Amino acid sequence: MSARFPSILLSLLLLASAAPSRAGNGWSDVASPTPGSPQVIGSYTGGCIAGAVALPWVGDGYQAMRLSRNRYYGHPVLIRFLEGLSQQAAARGNRLLVGDLGQPRGGPMSGGHRSHQSGLDADIWFLQQPRNQVLPRSQTERLGAPSMIRATEGTLNYANWSPRYRDTLKQAALSPEVERIFVNAIIKQALCDSETDRRWLNKVRPWWGHDAHFHVRLTCPFDSAQCQPQKPVPPGDGCDADLANWVRDIVQAARNPKPYKKPAPPSTENLPAACYAVLNGSTAWGR
Ligand SMILES: [Zn+2]
Repeated sequence: MSARFPSILLSLLLLASAAPSRAGNGWSDVASPTPGSPQVIGSYTGGCIAGAVALPWVGDGYQAMRLSRNRYYGHPVLIRFLEGLSQQAAARGNRLLVGDLGQPRGGPMSGGHRSHQSGLDADIWFLQQPRNQVLPRSQTERLGAPSMIRATEGTLNYANWSPRYRDTLKQAALSPEVERIFVNAIIKQALCDSETDRRWLNKVRPWWGHDAHFHVRLTCPFDSAQCQPQKPVPPGDGCDADLANWVRDIVQAARNPKPYKKPAPPSTENLPAACYAVLNGSTAWGR
């Protein structure tokens, strides 16, 4: 056999990994991050991360959920942020339940999120556990996240809501590395109606869903030159007509539910070329 054989194999491999949407999505199959210094490439909805680190499964004041998804990787700044937020929860006697961060090399997921691609997004459940309780592994897969809203009425579900959840949200929003936080518009409206300190409401943005967890997004790290920032949040507390429209739309959608249509998985087409180097990095990717 000539030396041509491996090079043909290599080009086939490269073609396969660059194909826009093959079944299984190569990004979800990668088992481990690339080694080396962390670099965010691209945007929250079309990007990847080199040198991501894993969130330890359990720490003081938090526990990671749904470990089987292998979505507990992020930029070290995200991991430090979560650990800091958790330490403050622990000081109040609580334990945070942390949902999805990103895949080992970021990139589009096979389902569930459009963003979470660049190692800077994390979901945190509203529900908290007592600090001294760690859920057994089976429960981290099975336990459901309760909704904090009564969507058809446009109000908080006070049977589930706790001021502790507001404390954690506020603390996250006041963290300088946090760019914005997504919550259901009904939750944002309830905060608008009750908070006297308005400083932190700006970063709390209304969205669909996000009634059982909130989604924290960090700013681009200063040393990630290829990280694409998002348009900044507009000034002001955001307790305005636009928010009222959000709430109205969510209430109407809850009162007239349409048959559920599974959203298409995010495209792999808008990724920066540099992300394919990350995907095909030197570390074996567990196949
Ligand atoms: Zn999220």
